[in-house]
Amino acid sequence: MRDNLIQIRSFGAGFYALRDSNGIHLIDCGFIGGVQMLHRALRKRGWGKDPILGIIVTHGHLDHILNVSRIAAETGAWIAAPRHDAAHYEGNPTYHGAAKVTGFLESAGRPVLGFKPFTTSRLLEDGDTMDVWHGLTVVHLPGHTAGHSGFYSHRLRWLFCADLFASYGGLSHFPPHFLNMDSKQAYESASRALELDLAGVLPSHADGASPEVHLQRLKKLVERQSGDMVKP
Ligand SMILES: [Zn+2]
Repeated sequence: MRDNLIQIRSFGAGFYALRDSNGIHLIDCGFIGGVQMLHRALRKRGWGKDPILGIIVTHGHLDHILNVSRIAAETGAWIAAPRHDAAHYEGNPTYHGAAKVTGFLESAGRPVLGFKPFTTSRLLEDGDTMDVWHGLTVVHLPGHTAGHSGFYSHRLRWLFCADLFASYGGLSHFPPHFLNMDSKQAYESASRALELDLAGVLPSHADGASPEVHLQRLKKLVERQSGDMVKP
């Protein structure tokens, strides 16, 4: 199954293409240049003629959903996305507190970058399962946004963990406060994710390390953060 996965590292958020015997499914659709990068990556792997059947969205931030409507229109793919971020898909999210900065950046970016709202075929909730890539289960990991969700493969014990953290070697970090709806809740989601039976995690903002290495980095971050929290 490892061979049936491509990580596409577009500017901003990266995203994933998963292939099974039915065709290809995407987890998010990347940011600027994502569409071209996707087609190039699929051709390079020899998957250029395989149908793109579905798009699974991790959360409503623009760097993850910019290309969703375009790819869905081009391919006829269905869209499944977390219920609690529905306003984002309509291009109409509300941000509070420090996250208002993100709200401002996104409202400036949507028209410039040509964001088109989209309608989902399915709104996802915690525990939902999808018959994709031998089965993925939705794990609601709120805090970064209200709907922010990961997708767990029981077969590989891997979690596509979206923006739970950014994984870049010694520079791995939790998302900055202004990108989070609720940073405390986001941290709690990170430590709760580690309670899953995990062999690896696959973040959206990451270098090309293996899922196993990303998992070690997440564990270290959570340990360090819990150390900071108990300090007087
Ligand atoms: Zn995000």
